[in-house]
Amino acid sequence: MTKDDPYHDRKLYHFADRINDRGGVSALCFKLPRAINLRIALWTLREDAVTCLQCRKLLRQRKAAEPAGSLTPAPPALDKPHPGG
Ligand SMILES: [Zn+2]
Repeated sequence: MTKDDPYHDRKLYHFADRINDRGGVSALCFKLPRAINLRIALWTLREDAVTCLQCRKLLRQRKAAEPAGSLTPAPPALDKPHPGG
């Protein structure tokens, strides 16, 4: 618990990475794509609104790997369907 979150109701904002066909959004920091549990966390496409440290780190790495001035590509629209599911 921190002073900033006395009621434990401040949710973590992940950076949205993938969206599945049910509207579930996977975070950049998830090793395997899965929908974020929106009861405990949220997602955003605004990099300055991301509060997840892992996502922020990955965003920085992703930026460092890209040539400066390039447009950020849109997140992939749909996840690959899972085998058997
Ligand atoms: Zn995250």
